[in-house]
Amino acid sequence: MFNIEAYIRDIHDFPKKGIVYKDITPLLQDATATRETVAAFLSFLEGEKIDKVVGIESRGFFFATLLAQELNAGFVPIRKPGKLPYDTYRESYSLEYGEDTLEVHSDAIQKGEKILVHDDVLATGGTAAAACKLVEKMGGEIVQCSFLMDLSFLKGKEKLDSYKVVSLVSY
Ligand code: AMP
Repeated sequence: MFNIEAYIRDIHDFPKKGIVYKDITPLLQDATATRETVAAFLSFLEGEKIDKVVGIESRGFFFATLLAQELNAGFVPIRKPGKLPYDTYRESYSLEYGEDTLEVHSDAIQKGEKILVHDDVLATGGTAAAACKLVEKMGGEIVQCSFLMDLSFLKGKEKLDSYKVVSLVSY
C-alpha cells in the first residue's frame, strides 16, 4: 500500500480553534495517488457485488463517484438539508452542541440493493451512522462503510459496530 498519509495535510485551527482539519486536496491533485487510493479501496471489496455507492456531502463525493464507476454501481449523494431538489428522506443526529440532518432522494435506493457507504473522515461517527440509518430505512443492505481515514481517538467505529468498516489510515 502506498503512503497515503503523505497526501493528507493537517490544517491547525480550521474551521475553528482546536480542530486539526484533515485536508485531502493534495491527494486529489495527484492522479497516481488518487488511482492508488481507489485500488486500495477496491482491494477490500473483492468478490462483493455493490449496486450503489453512497457518498456523504461533500468530500465523500470524490472517491464515492470514482469507486461507483470502478464497481459498475450507481452513485447516490447524501446531502445537508435543502440541497436535494426531489422528494427526500431525512435523518437527524446529535452533535456535541445541537443537531444536524442528512437527506437522500426517496428513489435513490431500492429494497435489497447492496450498498457501500463512503466518506473522507470518520470522526465521532455520527454522520456515517445517520447515513447508514437512511440507507436501511430505504431497504438497502450495507456491505461496507469506507473512509480515507479515521480519527481513532474519537471512537467513531463504535457507532458503526454492526457494519464492516474500512479506513485506509488511522490517526
Ligand atoms: P463525525 O460525524 O464526527 O464522524 O464527522 C465526520 C464528518 O465531518 C465527515 O463528513 C468529515 O468530512 C468531517 N470531519 C470531521 N472531522 C474532520 C477533520 N478533522 N478534518 C476534516 N473533516 C472532518
